[in-house]
Amino acid sequence: MVASPFGRSAPFDAGTPFDAGTPFDAGTPFDAGSPFDAGTVDAGAQDAGPRGLDVSVHLALGLPDQSALGDPSHWLLVRPQLVSSYDSTRKVPNWTSWKLDSTDFGSATRATSFRMDPLLPAAIPQARDADYVNSGFDRGHLCPSADRTFTDADNDATFFLTNVVPQTHASNAGPWLDLEDEARQLANQGKHLVIIAGPIFGATRQTIGTGVEVPLSMFKVAVVLEGTPNPGAVTTSTIVYAAIIPNASVLSGSWRQWQVTVRDVELATGLDFLSDVPTSVQNVIELRQAP
Ligand code: MN
Repeated sequence: MVASPFGRSAPFDAGTPFDAGTPFDAGTPFDAGSPFDAGTVDAGAQDAGPRGLDVSVHLALGLPDQSALGDPSHWLLVRPQLVSSYDSTRKVPNWTSWKLDSTDFGSATRATSFRMDPLLPAAIPQARDADYVNSGFDRGHLCPSADRTFTDADNDATFFLTNVVPQTHASNAGPWLDLEDEARQLANQGKHLVIIAGPIFGATRQTIGTGVEVPLSMFKVAVVLEGTPNPGAVTTSTIVYAAIIPNASVLSGSWRQWQVTVRDVELATGLDFLSDVPTSVQNVIELRQAP
């Protein structure tokens, strides 16, 4: 057993129950303040950036925005296990992207503590574990712990707070988990997925701790492929699941209650998914809700 800095003996703290008194209205208009939200998507704005596969296998279908090293609100964090874009002004990730297939599964034990991210320079603000203590919110993984169990190091990589947002327990243990489980089932059946998840913020700013911003809802886009992901493998027949799940205090049941199109998520976030895939293909599979 390799010694882990995370420690694995303490019971996992699922967080205190969310205070049901806080209203979370999923109908609140999305913040239009993002510099990437120009009101248009798939207009080729991302094409000037690097090809996703040149950055990481976890961005095999394209970078969803112009995140890069050195941008405090879109700091690109590239690890062997996953890639995140971090917003140090909100102290949460903009998104995490990761590939998922059966080779990601093994017998690693789940880490039990969350850590600050050493890839971020000390001068860049980031969340700390204490921000979440007694906040009423779970430390909600974007790339789930259970998607990275081949080695302990792989699992540890999901426990950096740059992969975490304040998430209601009802979402984390409810529809959000349901969607995670479905993705893992597909991977176990031999499918190859590329997944991107992240927070969506409302017009009203809510924070915990030292300014960790609480999302209004959370999105996930999951592309399902038969082999190793690359843009050429995506066709107009490719299945792409998309959901926007409210970060609500009362929530249960199937994630499909919250299923949307990829284009819905693009409009809500200003991100461009599948940006390395030909626009003609994007315009078919992003406008169609997966079965
Ligand atoms: Mn797109």
